[in-house]
Amino acid sequence: MKPENTEEWHSTDLTDHCPARVRLRLQGKISNRAPTAMVRGMLAGSALEYIHAHKTEHWGHEDMVWKAIDYAAYALRETLEEDNRILTDAAEKALKAELPDELEVVIESYVRRLAPLFAKTSHVGAEVPIRCSHSGVDFASHLDLVIYDPENVFLCKDEGHAGGLTVFDWKWRKDTPSKAYLARNQQFLLYWLACKHGKAQIDDGDDGKIWFAFNEHPGMAWVHLPSLKPYTRKVITKDDEGNEREFKKGDDRPLRQVIRVIKFEPSRAEDAMRSLCKKVEMYKNGFWPQNPDPVGCGICEAEDFCTRFDTVQLEGDE
Ligand code: SF4
Repeated sequence: MKPENTEEWHSTDLTDHCPARVRLRLQGKISNRAPTAMVRGMLAGSALEYIHAHKTEHWGHEDMVWKAIDYAAYALRETLEEDNRILTDAAEKALKAELPDELEVVIESYVRRLAPLFAKTSHVGAEVPIRCSHSGVDFASHLDLVIYDPENVFLCKDEGHAGGLTVFDWKWRKDTPSKAYLARNQQFLLYWLACKHGKAQIDDGDDGKIWFAFNEHPGMAWVHLPSLKPYTRKVITKDDEGNEREFKKGDDRPLRQVIRVIKFEPSRAEDAMRSLCKKVEMYKNGFWPQNPDPVGCGICEAEDFCTRFDTVQLEGDE
């Protein structure tokens, strides 16, 4: 099938900064290697899914964190096999060496710091499939974590807003996202619109699944997992109460650096949906421009298939 005829558009197709890569990916022209950065993100996601499958009062159990990491390593191998991917040598080495320890620090901090807050919320689901349609375009995605937060303990919703539906996206990226970036993030935009206008597949409470319309704009947060690591040096910054103070090496970073709240403006919803549909329209018309990126091209999974114009090896090329 031509990529232009794709039936369901996934959030990753809409948010990739390089449309050329989306086209190559839809054509199946991507490397089957799983590099360390991808493996780290997959491990963290599965470990947190495991944690959230348990009641918060059990999160503090002695071996909970390591059970989650072991489960994540098992789930990773299964997923790689299903996707016909293989670990790079570096990822294989990292999986046996630093990744489990790095994950332990982050998951332990997640459990210790966030369990008291999650205890005041109710769990809806993790890795929740969601679908929505607009102007003849079908969108599909998965939500990392969905909860109801009626007391607004995560401060993701405006005061007095009914419901308390909240979506969390677990991210393990080097760079902390800026407000300017989050305000334009089309992945979150799609989540926000789909919760209001689409349907999500959730547990029916009887070992089955149902497609359910939340019919609500959710509160949303980018959960910046690397910020769960403690400070590695002395830093002066604002704490969660807004007071400037000194943090020492080994101190937890303020929670506002971990839970990065995104609040879209409901009056902008129609424009937002139009902008997502316009992007799909562009793809359907065969416009998939290359957006070379000095850092991104070096780790692009479609790089082997993408046109390049140099003939000599550049410094930094493998
Ligand atoms: S190598 Fe660069 S320009 Fe080519 S598809 Fe990947 S990100 Fe886009």
